[in-house]
Amino acid sequence: MKATPAHQALLMQLQKLDTEIAQLNHKLKTLPEHEQITAIHTRLENAAVELKVVETELEDVTIDLRRSEVDVEAVSARMEKDEKRLNAGLGTPKELEQTQHELATLAKRKAELEDGELEIMMRHEAVKKRVDELKSDEEGLKTLELELNVRIENATTEINALIARAAEDRMKLAPQIDSALVETYEKIRQGQAGVGAALLIGNKCDGCHLVINAIELERIKTLVDDDVLRCEECRRILVRI
Ligand SMILES: [Zn+2]
Repeated sequence: MKATPAHQALLMQLQKLDTEIAQLNHKLKTLPEHEQITAIHTRLENAAVELKVVETELEDVTIDLRRSEVDVEAVSARMEKDEKRLNAGLGTPKELEQTQHELATLAKRKAELEDGELEIMMRHEAVKKRVDELKSDEEGLKTLELELNVRIENATTEINALIARAAEDRMKLAPQIDSALVETYEKIRQGQAGVGAALLIGNKCDGCHLVINAIELERIKTLVDDDVLRCEECRRILVRI
């Protein structure tokens, strides 16, 4: 195949644009924010599961707390009634003695209930704190997700603009190059990770980075500038500089 050195140089420019477009597309797909958002979703899901469990626990503990308060109130009311009767000196001495005895039992019961109530209150507080923490985490994560989405949107707009610019440059450039050369380049590019043409730098192909053997190098020296070279290893178009 033949192509002037000028066309071969333009082909290298085309390759540069294609590489740039490929890199930009890759960047678009691998924005770190995508991974961060995935991590946030996992955390939100876990938090939601825990929140459901803890909220149910909070409901249970709240009921326990009410029940315990009612128990303490009942004993207090009973004690008040007994104390009034005792203070008024109502009843026979035996009855009064019985009331006194009952009062002592009630006081002991009340102390026990109050201890229990205190324990439930502490548990209630701890569970409520966890609910608040989880809700606050959830809120923070959602805010972060919104921020990340804005960042993705901005980065995407920016990258897409760069892709559009490179694509436009490519559209202008491609028709200036020998069509058979471009066609060959396109065919090679498909099977070679988007790289169809590479420079010959020293004795190395810049596409596959392998050394061209001495015999081939000698042969290349005998070729005219219009001869289009191909790397023996990767088959890419090899452009001399
Ligand atoms: Zn090569």
